[in-house]
Amino acid sequence: MIIGKSKREIEKMRAAGQLVGQVLAHLKTMVEPGITTMEIDRAAEKMIRDGGALPTFKGYNGFPYSICASVNEQVVHGFPSNYKLKEGDIFSIDCGATLEGYVGDTATTVAVGRIDPESERLIRVTKECLELAIEQCLPGNHLGDIGHAVQHHAESHGYSVVRDYVGHGIGRRMHEDPQIPNYGKPGLGPKIKVGYVFAVEPMVNRGSHFTKVLSDGWTVVTLDGKLSAHVEHTIAITEDGPDVLTRVVPADTSALQPATCN
Ligand code: MG
Ligand code: MG
Repeated sequence: MIIGKSKREIEKMRAAGQLVGQVLAHLKTMVEPGITTMEIDRAAEKMIRDGGALPTFKGYNGFPYSICASVNEQVVHGFPSNYKLKEGDIFSIDCGATLEGYVGDTATTVAVGRIDPESERLIRVTKECLELAIEQCLPGNHLGDIGHAVQHHAESHGYSVVRDYVGHGIGRRMHEDPQIPNYGKPGLGPKIKVGYVFAVEPMVNRGSHFTKVLSDGWTVVTLDGKLSAHVEHTIAITEDGPDVLTRVVPADTSALQPATCN
């Protein structure tokens, strides 16, 4: 059952979304060669708790950490560890925060130092997939429109979309109905209504879409060992269109810039 949210609930979800969005923005600035993914996890947990929220992932079905830290061929659900990020890696950070009972869920993939153009292209296309998916988050559209937007864009660049893991409805619980696949056909699937809130999360592979889970029981990797990127936003459906609750607008510092003379 898809649980619609009132405007008041969406404002609470915005508070959670903005907090976790700010956490992710900060974590991105920490990413550089030599830092461990565990250091980034620690910073995430502190920032979430300092913001008066709980790290949603920690303890979720037994997941032990506050972020999922997925490097290179790891798709999602990677464990933070003493692995030191190195130049050329791509690093996906997925983070959730529960504030006053409502969850925000967001993820991004970051370059570690300088990366090769092919890795850069994978990240760029994955982010474009998310933006195209957000454009489909309109009342009256269907879930298949979202999945199709992701699949079509990824495949037109020679990539594949992961089938084994999907986006989801979100609210008081991180994972609510419906499932939101990154593949689909336009006009198919449940109709999207005002008040629905979705976590849309393209997972795009450079090679085939097949995945497997490592022996830790969590870390998902590509079966062919090729790179994978993952980005995610929490999005409310409103009469006016998609409202991206986890999108953080950078502080406007234009007023602080010195005037140019010529
Ligand atoms: Mg997530
Ligand atoms: Mg999610």
